[in-house]
Amino acid sequence: MPFSELIAQERAVGSLRSALRRGSLHHAYLFGGPEGAGKARAAVLLAQAANCEGGQAGPGGLREDPCGACGPCRKIERGLHPDVVVLAAERTMAKAGRWEPKGGRAPSKDIVVDQVRDLVDHRLAMKRFEGRRRFVVIDPADAMNPQAQNALLKTLEEPPEDTTLVLVASSPDALLPTIRSRCLRVSFRPLPAAAIAARLQEEGIPAEEARVAAALSGGSLGRARAHAGDAARRPLRAVAQAAALRPDDAGAWLAWAADPGADPAQARAKDRDRKAEVKELAPEICELMLVWLRDVLAVQAGADRLAVADLEPATRRAAAALPPGEVVRRRGEVLRTMRALRQNATSQLALERLMIGWFHGRA
Ligand SMILES: [Zn+2]
Repeated sequence: MPFSELIAQERAVGSLRSALRRGSLHHAYLFGGPEGAGKARAAVLLAQAANCEGGQAGPGGLREDPCGACGPCRKIERGLHPDVVVLAAERTMAKAGRWEPKGGRAPSKDIVVDQVRDLVDHRLAMKRFEGRRRFVVIDPADAMNPQAQNALLKTLEEPPEDTTLVLVASSPDALLPTIRSRCLRVSFRPLPAAAIAARLQEEGIPAEEARVAAALSGGSLGRARAHAGDAARRPLRAVAQAAALRPDDAGAWLAWAADPGADPAQARAKDRDRKAEVKELAPEICELMLVWLRDVLAVQAGADRLAVADLEPATRRAAAALPPGEVVRRRGEVLRTMRALRQNATSQLALERLMIGWFHGRA
């Protein structure tokens, strides 16, 4: 698969491809940008392109795009190439059976200094096995604790021959300045919702569902995929239900906060499952509510293209019933609820407070 599989990252991809064309890869890259923007995928494609044996090599001796089909490309894709080393959080590697914490302690959620020492003292001390260029992908690099980062400094300063390190980080500025200054930064931007929706449609997801999933994705294709399909229906139902609630029916909005978006045709979930579901759903419902309230304002301003066409009847009703100032106030309540959820407020309580705020002003 060539670099064109990455969407809306022309700048980042352009700089990597031009380095491949010249045959002069940097020894250390820092791929920064939000979760789901394609950073990790770009690291795999880069390692493939540099080791690809299919097609014609460019003037610098490397392929500008991997073929995806030759031996090295396939091995790298499957994580089986001996010259492509991946370093992840200790817990992730332990789970995959690729690492055992020293001294029998429990695996950490960080990348720890032992892992970096093992990389530097053993794996990088060996000769390359079969590839043209060795790659070390550290993902997420911002999971390296300060000791681990310090243990990597010397390698970043004097890297072994024909080796490229790729540090993948959604918070690159959390890395030590000494690490950052030794890497060439490649920035990945959040994917625009329209580009995500278009990609999901290419993958066979119906247009409306694709747009909702894209609106909820926060610029991440992976998250958008998770929202598509059935997962997209429940936040939609929840917002439609909330839009139909009446200020004088407290019983109904308390029931909504306890099980928002519940499908009336389905049996009620067990209490424990329901709580876990609501916890997961509450932030998504709030995000969709923001998009929906923006639609309400758009209708009031005379627009006729809505971000969430599925909710159009509710949108038109709300646009006719509420003054714009009230819609803006309700958006403020939703934002307040989102902050509370991020600070670990109980989801059901947060949604109850949201409804009180909606109907009766600040609680
Ligand atoms: Zn290939």
